[in-house]
Amino acid sequence: MIRILLITLISFYWQCSFTQGSDRKLLFIGMDGCRWDALETAATPALDELQSHAITNIDGLTEYPTWSATGWSGMLTGVWHTKHGVTENSFTGANYAKYPDFISRIEAYQSDLNTYSVVHWSPINTNIVQSVDTEVNVSSDLAVKEEAVRILTDLDPDVLFVAFDDVDHAGHVHGFLPTASGYLDAIEITDGYISEILSALHNRPGYAHEDWLVIVSTDHGGISAGHGGGTLEERSIFTIFSHPDINGIRNSRTIRTSTGIFNEAQFQPGTFASPIDQSPFLFGENQDFTRELWVKAWVYSEDPAFISNKDWDRGYYKGFVISAQSGQYWKVNIGDGTDRLDIQGGFIEPGKWHHLAVSFDRDGWMTAYEDGAVVGFAPMEKIGTIDAGLPLVINQDGTTTYAIDFDGSYKDIRIWNAVIAENTLVRWANVPITPDHPNYHNLLANWKCSDGTGNQLKDSSVHANHCQVTGSVNWKTNQSDTFRIFDYSELPRITDNALTALGWMCVPVQSVWDLDGKNWLEACDQTFVNHYSVSSSMTIFPNPAGDDFTIDLSDFGDVKQMLIYDFTGRFIKRMMPDNNSGLSKIDISDLHKGLYLLKADNGENVKVVKVVKK
Ligand SMILES: [Zn+2]
Repeated sequence: MIRILLITLISFYWQCSFTQGSDRKLLFIGMDGCRWDALETAATPALDELQSHAITNIDGLTEYPTWSATGWSGMLTGVWHTKHGVTENSFTGANYAKYPDFISRIEAYQSDLNTYSVVHWSPINTNIVQSVDTEVNVSSDLAVKEEAVRILTDLDPDVLFVAFDDVDHAGHVHGFLPTASGYLDAIEITDGYISEILSALHNRPGYAHEDWLVIVSTDHGGISAGHGGGTLEERSIFTIFSHPDINGIRNSRTIRTSTGIFNEAQFQPGTFASPIDQSPFLFGENQDFTRELWVKAWVYSEDPAFISNKDWDRGYYKGFVISAQSGQYWKVNIGDGTDRLDIQGGFIEPGKWHHLAVSFDRDGWMTAYEDGAVVGFAPMEKIGTIDAGLPLVINQDGTTTYAIDFDGSYKDIRIWNAVIAENTLVRWANVPITPDHPNYHNLLANWKCSDGTGNQLKDSSVHANHCQVTGSVNWKTNQSDTFRIFDYSELPRITDNALTALGWMCVPVQSVWDLDGKNWLEACDQTFVNHYSVSSSMTIFPNPAGDDFTIDLSDFGDVKQMLIYDFTGRFIKRMMPDNNSGLSKIDISDLHKGLYLLKADNGENVKVVKVVKK
C-alpha cells in the first residue's frame, strides 16, 4: 500500500515537473543613490526602453535613516528596519536570520534554480545576501557589467541580481542633483552598462522561450552631497518592473492642494499657548494618539519646541516634543525617563507652510509624516509612561521656560486619541475636519489658529477646550496661501521590490514571514484551481492541442484578456484574443507540454477552461 502511494506520488511529481509552463527568470538591477529627477534629466536610452514595457513608479519611498545598509536591506528583504534591524552601515543589529533576502527565499523554495549576485558594494553580498549559488564581489561598476554579461552569455541563470555603486559615489562628489553634470554623467554610464546587460539578455539562445522580468530600483536618494537624513530628496526612490507583456504605465504621487483665506497666528518670540483643561492629554503608558499641525517658519537655529508636554532639556525625559532642529530640519522625540525615541524630519523651507504629523501607536510604531509623506517610523513599545506632570504647550516645551524660542506661525493644530491611518491623514490634512472624518469621535482638540484677534486659540472640536496665550500673537488677517499635501499612499515602498521578485518567481509568501511590501504584478495564485469553478460553456478545439488551439468566445461577450496558468495555479502569460467575441486562435507554441487553465475575462465575469498541450 505504501509502495503504491509512493509510486503515485512520484508520478504526480513528474507530471508537475513537466507542467511548469514557460521559464520564469529575473534580472534585478540596483543603482545606489539614484534620484529619479536626475535619471529623467540624464540621457538613459536603456532605461527608457525598459520603461516602455514596465510599471514605473517614479515616486516610491524608503525610510529614515537613508543609509545604504538600511535601503538595500529593505529592498532585498521586503521588511523595514523595524524587522531587519539595520539602521547604520555597520550592520549592527541585523536580523537576516529571521528576515532573509529574496534570493535566499527563492533558493529555499526551489534550490535547483541558478542564482547569482554581482555587486560593487560588497556588504550587500557579505552581509545581506544569505544564500545564493554564486556570489561575485568586484571593485568597479565596469566589472559588475562584465560579470553580468558573462553570466547571461555563458551560463544559465534563473535569478541574476546586480548592484551598481558609481552613481552614489558621483553624488557624494558632485551633489545628488539633477543639475550636477558629474552626477548625470555617472547615471548615463550606468545606463550604458545596463544597455549591454540587456543586449546579452536578449541574445541568449533560449531567450524566446524564457520569460524575464527586469526590476530596476535604488536604495535611497540624496541631497546636496550626502544622504542618511529624513528629507524627501533622500527618502525618494523609484521602481521599474519591466516585462514585454506590460504596456508602459507610470505612477506618480498625487498632489492635493487647497487654497484659502485665513487669519495667520504669528507667535512672537517667547509667546506660547496652552489648553485650559489639560486632563484630556494625559496619555500615560498605553493611550495611542496622533498630533498634526501646519507650521510656517523663518530661519531658525537649535531646537525650539513647536508642541510639547516635556522638559526638552533631555531627550529621555518623560513626554514628547515636535521641534525644529538646526539646519532648517524638524524632529520628533518621545521619552519615558529612561528610554527615548527620535525621528528626524525633512526641511522646513523658510516662509512656506509645512504639515507635520506624528502618530503614536503605543504597542506598535511611532510614525512621522511631512506634507503627507511618511518620513520614518520606529517601534515604540518600550516607551513607558510619558506623563511628567507638565502641561501641553504650543510654541514652548512643558516647562514654558526652554531657552530656545521660536518665531513662526501655526495653523490647524489637531490632537487625536487614536492612530490616524495614512490615507485618512493625507485626505484630511489640508481640509477642515467635519463629522465625516472616520476618526471624528477621536478628535480631542482642533485649534485652527485663525481667530484673528485676542489671546485665545479657539478649539473647534466638540470639546471647546480653548488655548490661553501667554505673550502676544501677531494676527495677520485675511491671508491667502496654498496648502500642499503629497499623497504617496498608493505608491510603492522600497520593500515592494522583494515582494514583486518573490511573486514573479512564484514563491508562495507565508504570512508567518511577516513581510512588509507588496507584489506589483499578477500574483501566482497557488489556490487558483479552487477559486474558480471550471466552465464547460467555452469550447476549445482541438483539446489536447498542439502549438495552437481555437476558442469559441461567442457566448461570453467582449473578452478583455485571457490569462494562462499552469497546473499548480502559477500565472504563465497574458494574451489578447485576435477576435474577442467569436472564434479566436491562441498560440501556445511557447508552452511546455502539460495541463493548463485558461482564464477569460470580459470585465464582468471570468470563465475558466482546461486545456492540454500535447
Ligand atoms: Zn546607498
